[in-house]
Amino acid sequence: MFIQERLDMVAPCGMDCGICEMHTCQENSPLYDRLIEREIPKESIPCKGCRTITGMCPVIKEKCKTYLCFSGRNINFCFECDEFPCRKLHPAADRAEILPHNMKIFNLCTIRNSGIEEFLDRSTEIKLRYFKGKIQVGNGPQM
Ligand code: SF4
Ligand code: SF4
Repeated sequence: MFIQERLDMVAPCGMDCGICEMHTCQENSPLYDRLIEREIPKESIPCKGCRTITGMCPVIKEKCKTYLCFSGRNINFCFECDEFPCRKLHPAADRAEILPHNMKIFNLCTIRNSGIEEFLDRSTEIKLRYFKGKIQVGNGPQM
């Protein structure tokens, strides 16, 4: 059973802030130091997660447009939106090997189909498979 604070660390767009480096650096000094070297402002890390900081994601240094869009609707996740899947969630090759944006739709579909707790059980493995898996054409990324 996950505690509410962990459930709240899943952003409306499907990003799992609970395993984002900007958040986990609170328990990892070398990671924290690397982020500071990359000129992430000290005051913005460790990040408390999208919902807590109401979309002021330190990675983009302004209010997230996806968060702004979500917050004007009476929904908890983007998959509940009539416009889902919209262009803001569109997969893109740009910086796909370092940024997790292409995982949003998969994460949201997993939450929709299996529930938030099962998603959280699988979230770390989903991210690992995205960044480290080797594509087997027709069979997805393999570990
Ligand atoms: S709001 Fe952005 S920087 Fe903060 S934990 Fe979530 S994805 Fe990471
Ligand atoms: S339009 Fe897109 S970003 Fe906005 S709430 Fe709907 S699915 Fe989310």
